[in-house]
Amino acid sequence: MRVDALLKQMTLEEKLGQLVQYSDSGYNEALTAEQQAAGPGKNPVPQEKVDAMQLVATGRLGSLLNTVGQARINALQHAAVEKSRLHIPLMFGADIIHGYKTIYPIPLGLAATFDPGLVASLAHISASEARTGGVDWFYSPMVDISRDPRWGRTQEGAGEDPYLGSAMARAYIRGYQQDDLSSATSVAACVKHFAAYGAAEAGREYNTTDMSQSRLHQVYLPPYKAAVEAGAATVMSAFNALNGVPASANPYLLQQVLRNQWGFNGFVISDYTAVMELRNHGIALDAATAARKAITAGVDVDMMSHYYDTELPVLVKSGQVPMSVVDEAVRRVLRVKFALGLFEHPYAEGKEVTSAVPEHRSLVRKAAEESIVLLQNKPAGGGLPLLPFAESVKRIALIGPLADDSGEMTGSWGGGRRDPDVVTVKDALEARTRQIGGSVSYAKGTEILGASEEGFAAAVDAAKQADVVVMALGESSEMSGEAGSRAYLDLPGNQEKLLETVAATGRPIVLLVFSGRPLVLNWAAEHVAAIMEAWFPGTEAGNAIADLLWGDVAPSGKLPMSFPRAVGQEPLYYNQFPTGRPPVNLDLTKPPTFDSRFFSRYIDVPNDALFPFGYGLSYTQFAYQDVTVSKTRIPFGEANREGAHNLVTVTATVRNTGNRAGTEIVQCYVRNLGASLEQPVRSLEGFQRVTLQPGETKTVSFPLGFPELSFFDNDGRAVIEKTDYTVWVGGDSRATEHAEFRITQ
Ligand code: BGC
Repeated sequence: MRVDALLKQMTLEEKLGQLVQYSDSGYNEALTAEQQAAGPGKNPVPQEKVDAMQLVATGRLGSLLNTVGQARINALQHAAVEKSRLHIPLMFGADIIHGYKTIYPIPLGLAATFDPGLVASLAHISASEARTGGVDWFYSPMVDISRDPRWGRTQEGAGEDPYLGSAMARAYIRGYQQDDLSSATSVAACVKHFAAYGAAEAGREYNTTDMSQSRLHQVYLPPYKAAVEAGAATVMSAFNALNGVPASANPYLLQQVLRNQWGFNGFVISDYTAVMELRNHGIALDAATAARKAITAGVDVDMMSHYYDTELPVLVKSGQVPMSVVDEAVRRVLRVKFALGLFEHPYAEGKEVTSAVPEHRSLVRKAAEESIVLLQNKPAGGGLPLLPFAESVKRIALIGPLADDSGEMTGSWGGGRRDPDVVTVKDALEARTRQIGGSVSYAKGTEILGASEEGFAAAVDAAKQADVVVMALGESSEMSGEAGSRAYLDLPGNQEKLLETVAATGRPIVLLVFSGRPLVLNWAAEHVAAIMEAWFPGTEAGNAIADLLWGDVAPSGKLPMSFPRAVGQEPLYYNQFPTGRPPVNLDLTKPPTFDSRFFSRYIDVPNDALFPFGYGLSYTQFAYQDVTVSKTRIPFGEANREGAHNLVTVTATVRNTGNRAGTEIVQCYVRNLGASLEQPVRSLEGFQRVTLQPGETKTVSFPLGFPELSFFDNDGRAVIEKTDYTVWVGGDSRATEHAEFRITQ
């Protein structure tokens, strides 16, 4: 009612003001289609002045992008609520992706925790910090499924699996919005990038996507749906085209699926200049057409294109865009502003958070510890595995370009800059070794993208004097993230050469890999005793790593994406479809003979991942037994109801067979055989974190219902058929213990 009362008073210009967003830089940074077409060098950023403050004061701007900090935000807000005619407050949206000032691991790393409760708590602390700086709207979570690590934005999502992705999506929304947007510590979430952006062909950024309805609904849409069902206030439309229709002008996605099927009633904002880019996509010959297509498809707010404010006045007056479409978009925006309580509390208040918050560090450290995946842990020269360090380990050589770079630890959003709050690996290892009467000798060795071998000799010298060598190698944070697609997935520059050179000393090596994506680690897997995937761990990077190296905490992270053996395997994902020629019982490590050739295989690399989805070691071992199902037959009539939950319960026992406590992520996979459409060879349909003392056994159960047992047909409908199911329970996607049941007449 308040919304409609306000809407009635608004002029067309004021309405359109609510539907545009600019940054506060003072310029319209958007390139026109013509300028983009002209190519680099010929298209300087247009210096067309967009004076945000003035637009706000005259009611012609509804929200700002990436303005952060109390002083400036409150000044802009003051102009909106005091000077503009209708006193409508602004929203301040920003890319707060994995922490505001206290930074936790990148989202791909958080997915490796398989710990939604933890993720919700982290999301909440970043919301509470950001609100003090005036930000009330996060362009997060990114829930794009990515099955191809060449795509750099892989680092911003939860990886390749829709079930895990959905759990993470819900956790972020819960943490950001706390089921109460009006709380002083909540922010509005913006789920992005709708939809299927992560399926960019060949992993090339902004590239097109094309897929069946079944795949769209079964693999790519579930995390967005989960976020919407959890109450996400806003959605961002993606840059990519889906089946030939750009997502930012796609009525199927934005109306039929998002609003009609899922009942979303927040607003949709375009991605940065995505409305303008409709021209580059070739579906709009001019700005007016682009604006018309976007708003009528369901993009409510135009981020940075400068098209809604310039084109819509004429389009509305001439009737090409009905006023009702504009009104509905404005209603959606105002609803969120009211829900956020901005009309009552427009200003940022309280002590502004400007650096990492001491009370938040322990949670962020725990997150980093849970996110790191132990990929390999062999004995170095016989005896016990290299990790955790034995008491005899005193002298450590620390080598590599990521060992002491505070900026790189915080990932691509906000990464790259020196961050005095960050504890680097060098800081933490020095502190630790001081406590135990040991020492660290540090040698950078090379740069992240280095070619020079000048630093190799010092690295070798350091290694020779050490009990253990810790190598901190990997990507810079800028090598992933937006526009961070790579065609090679190796350790960049000459880092592998550095690794080989240091390994030649024969000293035992722990390799810490920092990356925003799975890398190809074949050489390391063959020659290095211990490997940890550390992603970009955030403010507490070094402390978390030290905790794991010395075994204060046992690793528990599991891979949210398959690590390939070769880039040519990509897209490589565990929940693939079967083929007519599965290479069962063939030795794929050998080149094919006539008998083994005509199968779905490569002639030069095995089909499987080097480290599969769901995989990760601990400092103890777990054994699985007694996978059983509560019934072996489910009547079709009972199963075929969307609301049917717990149709069958899968149980298994898991036992800690090692000699220290540890946490295991127990995973439940399902296969459906005999359906009218091919189904994946297995799909994750449940997981649980279980902490076990040495020798302890627990029974774990997974209820499966319609959501877990159904699949999507090519009309995008969830269906169940009379089919046979196999379920596996285990510690990764290769789990072998299984049971069967079927849906019958
Ligand atoms: C990115 C979005 C981001 C937006 C605003 C775009 O380039 O694709 O993820 O939220 O910029 O900064």
